[in-house]
Amino acid sequence: METKFTEEQLSNPPIKRANEILRTCVHCGFCLATCPTYQVLGDELDSPRGRIYLIKDMLETGRPADEKTVKHIDRCLSCLACMSTCPSDVHYMHLVDYAREYIEETYKRPLTDRLLRKMLKVMMTNQKLFGLSLLFSRFAKPFASFMPDRRLRTMLSLSPSGIKKAQEYIRGETFFPEDKKKFRVALLMGCVQQAINPSINQATIGLLTRLGCEVVVPTYGCCGALPHHMGSKDDCSRLALGAINSLIEEMDGDGLDAIIINTSGCGTTIKDYGYMFQNHPSQKDAERVAEMAVDITEFIDRIGFPFHEKPSIRVGYHAACSLQHGQGIKTIPKELLKSAGFEVVEPLNSHLCCGSAGTYNMLQPEISKELRTRKIDTLEAKKPDIIATGNIGCMVQISAGTNIPVVHTVELLDWISTPTSSPKSLDTLKADFNC
Ligand code: SF4
Ligand code: SF4
Repeated sequence: METKFTEEQLSNPPIKRANEILRTCVHCGFCLATCPTYQVLGDELDSPRGRIYLIKDMLETGRPADEKTVKHIDRCLSCLACMSTCPSDVHYMHLVDYAREYIEETYKRPLTDRLLRKMLKVMMTNQKLFGLSLLFSRFAKPFASFMPDRRLRTMLSLSPSGIKKAQEYIRGETFFPEDKKKFRVALLMGCVQQAINPSINQATIGLLTRLGCEVVVPTYGCCGALPHHMGSKDDCSRLALGAINSLIEEMDGDGLDAIIINTSGCGTTIKDYGYMFQNHPSQKDAERVAEMAVDITEFIDRIGFPFHEKPSIRVGYHAACSLQHGQGIKTIPKELLKSAGFEVVEPLNSHLCCGSAGTYNMLQPEISKELRTRKIDTLEAKKPDIIATGNIGCMVQISAGTNIPVVHTVELLDWISTPTSSPKSLDTLKADFNC
């Protein structure tokens, strides 16, 4: 794609990078077919190519973002299906991330939007505050229809009805292997995940210690992924630096073999820290953290999963976008489940987003709901006993629209590898998961 940035504009590193990305796009349009928002809305401006044109125009002219550009960029899920499809390797993620930052800096959103976005950023990056908001939602949920804003109504409707008894907010703790120590790893617990469903982290620790890992939970707070996707550069940098410093402390202290992430949305951001902190005093530390970061399934695959049962359970595997498109992890989770003895089925169009996408389901409820319906229809068509996925956001989104239990992939791997006196079956699984 031809671009017309001035020399002065190109002396600004983010514009220089945007220019490089824009120039790789050959406007072939292959990405349209796999873009969920284009499929739902049918408008070229809600496709990757349309958004690329809007971003190019906004940045070239150097004008503040306008309403039309903001509308179509806001509708992008950042699912990155377009990156998996693009034959020219257009790095859409870096381009849209910068466009969101530019919008935050130059566009004044209506007051209600600003308040809502601020509330989400503050609440969802703080485990304790998020836990309190879940408690409030539990009581407010029956009154959701009285809420004045459709997005607030959606937030309440998505909040889990029965909140599991939260483990204390584990920070700075170490869990020791059941047997001989083979590895020392750090586990990032995810702010939202630990508040909504602490059993995922419990299962992760159980599985890792069974496989010979000493598991350290660092003192860090949030990885910054959520404000990053909302274009809040300063909030993201502040939070990410907190995570980086706390992980570097562990790496330079007793040492680490891996930094494990079991929330794939966070994983995509952490693996990109090296790029995000380019030309920053902490660049080297950010790169070290990014290089050591792995999804839990990548790590289990690396060290081997020596457990196999034949439980006759059909698992519908939903591939989270952040895992399949953001990190390119497509087959490992399915292969692990199969090697554990589960029958694995996948929905039609498994590359398409379920509509969760961080805060998207709360900020764009109509498009999100349509995508959820499509995802659940295709999942239910495969008649699974249980649905497994690798991201808490997808779990909340999908379980809000189906009666089939939805669990994290690592919960199934932990369950199958936990020694019991009776054989594993669908009945014992339902009893153990209380579903
Ligand atoms: S597939 Fe890639 S090169 Fe083709 S229009 Fe989309 S982003 Fe551009
Ligand atoms: S990230 Fe997803 S929603 Fe956004 S343009 Fe690409 S495919 Fe479409």
